[in-house]
Amino acid sequence: LDKTLELYRYPKRFMHPSWQAWDSADELLINYVVEQQPDYANAHFLILNDDFGALTSWLSPARITHVSDSLIAQKSCQKNIQLNHSNPTFVEYRNSLESLPDSPDWVLLKIPRTTALLEYQLAQIRKVISPTTRIMAGAKAKSIQKSTLSLFEKYLGNTHTSLAKKKSRLVFSQPQFPLTDLSLPEPTRWKSDDGVLHVVNHANVFARQQMDIGARHLAACLPDCEGKRIADLGCGNGIIGLTVLQRTQHAKVTFIDESYMAVASAKENVRLNFPERLVDCEFVVSNCLEQLDKETQFDIVLCNPPFHQQNTVTDHIAYQMFDDSKTKLVKGGELRIIGNRHLDYPQTLKRLFGGYEVVGSDPKFSILSSHK
Ligand code: SAM
Repeated sequence: LDKTLELYRYPKRFMHPSWQAWDSADELLINYVVEQQPDYANAHFLILNDDFGALTSWLSPARITHVSDSLIAQKSCQKNIQLNHSNPTFVEYRNSLESLPDSPDWVLLKIPRTTALLEYQLAQIRKVISPTTRIMAGAKAKSIQKSTLSLFEKYLGNTHTSLAKKKSRLVFSQPQFPLTDLSLPEPTRWKSDDGVLHVVNHANVFARQQMDIGARHLAACLPDCEGKRIADLGCGNGIIGLTVLQRTQHAKVTFIDESYMAVASAKENVRLNFPERLVDCEFVVSNCLEQLDKETQFDIVLCNPPFHQQNTVTDHIAYQMFDDSKTKLVKGGELRIIGNRHLDYPQTLKRLFGGYEVVGSDPKFSILSSHK
């Protein structure tokens, strides 16, 4: 292939030198598309889950719709396109809750980690394809199970796979038209242990089947939030912020996540459980606290941090979350987090805040608190 790209993971300042912003499934997809010699000037590519923008950067300046649940994926893609293309590109960014554009010529799907998101996206794709749409997906061979292929068969009909190459594999589907109508899978629902909170979870949301054990510990060990400005950082379905609303008469809660489906779920959950408190709440899709207004300040930040970015296990997001919290907390304000005991959060908090207190623990988790 006669092109070289420079690709980073957003935000670049936290990218570990050993991490790649592409994988062998991207390479397989690109090789396959290039071999087919598409009409780049006129074709419309629909690309889903292009986590760091490798596919989009490669195919630009063709017309592309980039669909992702992740703000970080969108930002990575935008930055990588800027870095690699001096000419204008035709990329439209849609999040995973928006509908897909009609009749794309090509669908390129990176198979997501969450099966529920895959199912949701296959159902979305089924709604917009035409008989001439070419559909292909890619992933690490080990993550393409029989059950994965059954989902492709269910929503897109005849499906076959390529041979594995560099541990990745492609999946091709050829639907038989006309297609009958199949609705999108519904969000999951569960209730809190006390049976009071009803929690709705869109497809890509963490702990979509039941309350996370870390969240359960943190919810049981919240500081006094009455009358305070609270951030639920990495809110997922919003269970921590909902618990704050449940326990207070007055508190302002900002729900923050980089997943569009998470923030939408949190908003639905406040509307469902505390409609009268919606006026006290804000919902922000953000990488850590980056996207918040400059003036925003919190009295308390509550956080059950993530420990992976897509397929990479990492503590850099937790680090940015703690660092951003320090910036956004008022003097004397508190960051309260839950973490697996084997993680190095105490050292990180000590470095950033000058100290920490263990306010709760069990054999697996610690709840740590630092004040600014
Ligand atoms: N608070 C929820 C709970 O306790 O069940 C979810 C906690 S889950 C361990 C971590 C959350 O952080 C996920 O919802 C994930 O989408 C979110 N997240 C990951 N990276 C993020 C980032 N860079 N900025 C904001 N949120 C992020």
